[in-house]
Amino acid sequence: MRISIVGGGFAGLAAAQLAEEVTADVRLYDKGAYSGNRRGAWGEMVWDYSQLPLDRHVPGYVRESNTGIFVGSSGKTAVNVPDGVILNRGELEKHWAGTLERTEITENAEVDEAEFRRLSAESDLLIDATGQFPISSRFTPLSYDVACPTLSGRIEADFSHLYPEPRALAYENYFLWIVPQSPEEATVGLGCRDDKSPSELYEDMQQLLAEIDIEPPEREALHSGTDVSNGLRSLSHCSYELNDCTVHIAGDAIGLANRLTGFGMVHAAQSGRAAVSAFVQGESYKRRLLCQNFWTKAVTGVASPIHHSIGLDGIARLAKSDIEYQESFEPQQPADILHAVRTFI
Ligand SMILES: Cc1cc2nc3c(=O)[nH]c(=O)nc-3n(C[C@H](O)[C@H](O)[C@H](O)COP(=O)(O)OP(=O)(O)OC[C@H]3O[C@@H](n4cnc5c(N)ncnc54)[C@H](O)[C@@H]3O)c2cc1C
Repeated sequence: MRISIVGGGFAGLAAAQLAEEVTADVRLYDKGAYSGNRRGAWGEMVWDYSQLPLDRHVPGYVRESNTGIFVGSSGKTAVNVPDGVILNRGELEKHWAGTLERTEITENAEVDEAEFRRLSAESDLLIDATGQFPISSRFTPLSYDVACPTLSGRIEADFSHLYPEPRALAYENYFLWIVPQSPEEATVGLGCRDDKSPSELYEDMQQLLAEIDIEPPEREALHSGTDVSNGLRSLSHCSYELNDCTVHIAGDAIGLANRLTGFGMVHAAQSGRAAVSAFVQGESYKRRLLCQNFWTKAVTGVASPIHHSIGLDGIARLAKSDIEYQESFEPQQPADILHAVRTFI
């Protein structure tokens, strides 16, 4: 039995790890390489690390972090993060790929539509783990209820006043986060529910970082992305047939990330494993995903249609309704985000 996996992030790596246990013929293709600075740019906070099929204290595991500072329009509070961990994602993925001794890994291999078809003809199971811009969108209908443009990067600056807690701010249209890796370095990102261009987002980020006395990085040092989230309905397309081969879509490619929970990486890994186990056991992959992600997907599914009216802050309040805020203020204008940012530190 051949299992081919396209995309070697958390979803693809977790799929390969499990696939190795059931067959000797596993192939993994990634358009990037595991060497070098693979991915130091995205958020690196994980809730519930024990859900990942990885040991602790491996390269890329930075430290435990069980408290996060969350700021919404109602104020600032410390949030308990169960089994929270800060990762260096690039290091961790490199280490993880290195543990896959029986998987044939092809790096720097961008799989296009023709190649994907060819792989399907040669495989029993083909897993699409290509992330935010999935190749499967050419073969099956996929849409995202929430696709939030993001700009993020690793910044070297004095973060000693913020270290060690990660911080997230959900306010009006923005979602800003700072995850200190050390007192001198942090992953900083900004998401926006409006359809802003990277240069517009960069201007906003400059303003917000200046407010907390952090020198903004050069635009080139930042990565543009999109934080994808789907409601439950999207899962109808998580599996399809191509050339008599079963294709399962895992991770961000099927919109499992949820920017408000910090479970993107965990959900990606869980779905990668489910993509393999459901196939091997002859069970419905969609059913597996629904069982694993029902609560998160339901919250996203319910929140998505109304998020345009209540904004990110509203969703955050909904998701964190049990938070007891310690300070409060009443924002009147969008410009009050600056006030909120001051609360941030
Ligand atoms: C700015 C930002 C911040 C985030 N912060 C957090 C956070 O703090 N905590 C958290 O848990 N989640 C966070 N997330 C979500 C998290 O990053 C994703 O949910 C997770 O990375 C999804 O893993 P994945 O394996 O599905 O996709 P990815 O990690 O995107 O991996 C996809 C892989 O596919 C490869 N690929 C793509 N196309 C092709 C192709 N055609 N051929 C070959 N290879 C291809 C890519 O090179 C990549 O390695 C964040 C997301 C963003 C955008």
